[in-house]
Amino acid sequence: MSELARGVIPTRAVTASKAAWPREVSRRALGKRLRNALDRRAGPKTHLSDETSLCFPLIATPESLEPATVRHLPIFIELGERPAIVVGGGVVAARRVELLVEAGARVTVFAAALSDDFRGLPDAPNFRHQARDPEPKDFEGSALCFVATEDERLAIAARAAAKAAGALVNVADRPRLCDFIMPSIVDRSPLVIAISTGGASPILGRMLKARLESLIPAAYGRLARLTGGFRLAVAKAIPSPVMRRRFWEAVLDGPIGERALAGDDRAADAELARAIERAAAESAEAPRGEVYLVGAGPGDPDLLTFRALRLMQKADVVLYDRLTDEGVMNLVRREAERIYVGKQPDDHELPQAEISALLVKLARQGKRVLRLKGGDPFMFGRGGEEIEALAAHGIPFQVCPGVTAATGAAAYAGIPLTHRDHAQSCVFVTGHGKDGKVELDWGALLQPRQTVAIYMGLRNLETLTREFIAHGADAELPAAIVDNATRSAQRVVVGTLATVAAKARQAELGGPAIIIVGTVVTLRDKLDWRPEARQRAPAERDPSPTASEKD
Ligand code: SAH
Repeated sequence: MSELARGVIPTRAVTASKAAWPREVSRRALGKRLRNALDRRAGPKTHLSDETSLCFPLIATPESLEPATVRHLPIFIELGERPAIVVGGGVVAARRVELLVEAGARVTVFAAALSDDFRGLPDAPNFRHQARDPEPKDFEGSALCFVATEDERLAIAARAAAKAAGALVNVADRPRLCDFIMPSIVDRSPLVIAISTGGASPILGRMLKARLESLIPAAYGRLARLTGGFRLAVAKAIPSPVMRRRFWEAVLDGPIGERALAGDDRAADAELARAIERAAAESAEAPRGEVYLVGAGPGDPDLLTFRALRLMQKADVVLYDRLTDEGVMNLVRREAERIYVGKQPDDHELPQAEISALLVKLARQGKRVLRLKGGDPFMFGRGGEEIEALAAHGIPFQVCPGVTAATGAAAYAGIPLTHRDHAQSCVFVTGHGKDGKVELDWGALLQPRQTVAIYMGLRNLETLTREFIAHGADAELPAAIVDNATRSAQRVVVGTLATVAAKARQAELGGPAIIIVGTVVTLRDKLDWRPEARQRAPAERDPSPTASEKD
């Protein structure tokens, strides 16, 4: 295997819904639900401290908190001129031979006869055909062996001989007999996309391949070739990795890339050479950093804006906190450094001033800094405070709004915040109070035909509902708590001002949660549209103890 170890590791794209936690993390950095699930999985005898490093990937969908089963290491192997064996003369064997020949291996095919699918292949200098069964010594020194024959006895014997000789073996359509599997590929050489379903669904792999084939212009290979030819020159001319990445982004996204895509390789080469010269002259200057303050929404990654996703893909470093959903984090550029600035185990969050200072420091290093905030950054998120320091230091920044928890909760719980028959206004307030006391403008809150959405109120729920009634609200006024809104662990508790606090306690809601007060809550009976909500059995619910509500 060590001899085979010259390879390229493909960038792993992770999807929002079934995504693996992207890197080694400490237990502390996980969300509470993941920590609980992990502890349950580890069993009562295993102590996982907050410092425990988790180096296996975790599936981030709350429905299935299973360790990810990445059964096959995705790599691209450079075969050089190493020998490779193919046993079989049919269409599958022919496809394997094509790939191997193209990859430069010295290929020997053992088959009594070759089908028409081998057309043209015998002309390749690195192709050899033996019209007999292979002998054990034929496998000596081989890197890979493909077995694609109907002859069961021959297949088993060939596999055994190949393995004895130290080759990695693939037996067509027999995943259990394979050391490696073949992905579906989208070939824009030198750009190659390999798709694997881990053997679970080759058809799905092929469907995805078909979609990618239509999405990625054939000329993309030209772009890869263009950049490949200049990589060393650029590395020399622009020593800073951050600047280098920006240079390449500008090239691929700009007129030079367009020229290459249009097939004008000469002009693209000449312009790129000039751009490298210019960049070399400029690169002595420190790169200019910037900060993106991005609202990540309440949890469901589908609720991200396009702009949020674009900025997440550009970031060199990301600052995130407890409210940032794992599914969302998986969409941040994989290579970006991750800094957790949320609640620490001792219940103290990094002070706001320190977060602001960190943003300034990182931007001054020339980095693109992504500050991800749950919901909307300007809605009870202290996002404004974080960027005041940036403005004071003249650091460029941009703000990207997000779906705020109240609107996310309302939509996913089937409770319209306004409605012709119920409410013409809606106010958003914070229920977080010092020492259990909440100070709210009750006169403004208790208006008729108005919905009140309360953030950070779960902890003070008893006090809040009592105060509503004490200030003259009807004890029968409907109220709902939407816990973990928009996430698959979402739970909704519905009651009245008189009952909802006790119901929430009984349900052991863990937060974060939004409280919605008003007659609009009654609409949920008709408008709850999420099928999962009805299907979810009580046993599946996560009865985690109440957490602090403040982010
Ligand atoms: N900027 C955020 C709010 C931060 S304050 C936004 O616009 O949504 C933190 C509070 O937001 C929590 O205490 C809770 O009340 C609410 N919250 C955040 N995410 C939530 C979620 N997924 N479900 C319910 N409430 C949430």
